[in-house]
Amino acid sequence: MTSRILYVPFDHLNRNKGVLKDRNPKTDVVLLVESARMITGRDFHKERLFFLISSARHFVQELKAEGIKVEYIKAATTVAGLDKAKSSYGDLPIYCAEPSSFRSFAQLTEYGVNFVPNDLFLTSRQDFMTWAKSQKTYVMENFYRAQRVRLDILVNAGKPEGGQWNFDADNRLPPPKDYVWPEYLYHERDEIDLEVAKELDYTPTKTWATTHKGALAQLDNFITNHLDGFGPYEDAVTKDNWALHHSLLSPYLNNGLLDPQVAIDAVVKAYESGKARIQSVEAFIRQVIGWREYVNGMYWFLGEDYKYKNGLNAQLPLLPVFRNSKATEMNCVSSVVKDIEDRSWVHHIPRLMILSNLALITGTNPQEFLDWMREAFIDASDWVMVPNVIGMGVHADGGIMMTKPYAAGGAYISRMTQYCKGCKYNPKLRVGEDACPFTTLYWDFLDRHKEEFVKNHRMSQQVYGLKKLSDLEELKVRANQVITGLSAGQI
Ligand code: SF4
Repeated sequence: MTSRILYVPFDHLNRNKGVLKDRNPKTDVVLLVESARMITGRDFHKERLFFLISSARHFVQELKAEGIKVEYIKAATTVAGLDKAKSSYGDLPIYCAEPSSFRSFAQLTEYGVNFVPNDLFLTSRQDFMTWAKSQKTYVMENFYRAQRVRLDILVNAGKPEGGQWNFDADNRLPPPKDYVWPEYLYHERDEIDLEVAKELDYTPTKTWATTHKGALAQLDNFITNHLDGFGPYEDAVTKDNWALHHSLLSPYLNNGLLDPQVAIDAVVKAYESGKARIQSVEAFIRQVIGWREYVNGMYWFLGEDYKYKNGLNAQLPLLPVFRNSKATEMNCVSSVVKDIEDRSWVHHIPRLMILSNLALITGTNPQEFLDWMREAFIDASDWVMVPNVIGMGVHADGGIMMTKPYAAGGAYISRMTQYCKGCKYNPKLRVGEDACPFTTLYWDFLDRHKEEFVKNHRMSQQVYGLKKLSDLEELKVRANQVITGLSAGQI
């Protein structure tokens, strides 16, 4: 006799965590709802929709193969799906792990769903609150070191393995020359994949796995072929390889197919058996137990209204280039947007130093940019994108998360990427028709916000640099032309 409905959202696909952890096979039915609103409600990248839906359907197939009672309901909305389940099984109590967004939390609370703790992260929301409330500033590095100790990861008698907590300074090499990158791992498509692709009228790549087994294969591929080289080239961007040594694991970590603890254990084991250097191992661990957990914790800690912050009063509508790689002649931006069009993913440096940097220094409205980031990326969720965009990417929170904005001109992009050589613009020039738009806009951004940035000790040096510019008036005129041109898709 069924007595409970266990509702599993599409980002909780882990049979040993969340609401499935304590399931009773005799009395529980597991429910997944494929909501039409998810598919048509926003302009999501189809690669992302394909990945989420196909992963959920594979998950259901795997649970059924184990003899677990599962319902997969297609409905107009999540609530309509819950209603449908109740009409089949009776007015039974519905249980769910704490959902991943404020919106979903409110919706399910209103429906009367009972929550169990969300243990798909390594840090409970309560534990993060306790940490955050004990801090004067929310410096990620402090959180990360506490995580290393709390979770006992590469710590010996209170001291970090390798003698340093953080090897970030060793991990900023530019793209290497004549370097042979390992082959990409491809994931073959099966019947479920093809069915989802047909329904979406989309031809997916073979980049992303849609099963737990495929996620583990990706982890294994990372450890075997990429982990050791990951750290040094973590921040580099090349033209000949879109993945470099990045793990490509974030989609699986974020939809539940890969447990973060499993990934960490595998990486630590590789280090202990001498397969990877500490610089790389520490860099990966920092991303998973540090940044990922910190961002999720901050999302809940900062509250629902945080996503509406616009501390720099940025009002420019979203530039056409974000939705169309052909709408600009800036080689870096066009190439990165094309990569996103192709597979719904680029690594953190193009996200931060090209896309967010462009939004930041053009004064693009943070909420419009946030909406686009949510729709474009395969691993996006509210908890991922709200702090990453509002706090880090476009500095719209007045410095709550980051002490300074991540603004850069063409010189940084020229050093860390290979795009400038094939570009019609010159990263060294700030005025004139050939000037790099990033270089022009960087100085213009500093000038527009100089009164507030001069009070920031991490920015004052850059603001003082403005005084050395003899062509500031000319630069301001060019910056206006650049913004007008970008807005028209003509720069
Ligand atoms: Fe990008 Fe400027 Fe370099 Fe062109 S010159 S690729 S616009 S940074």
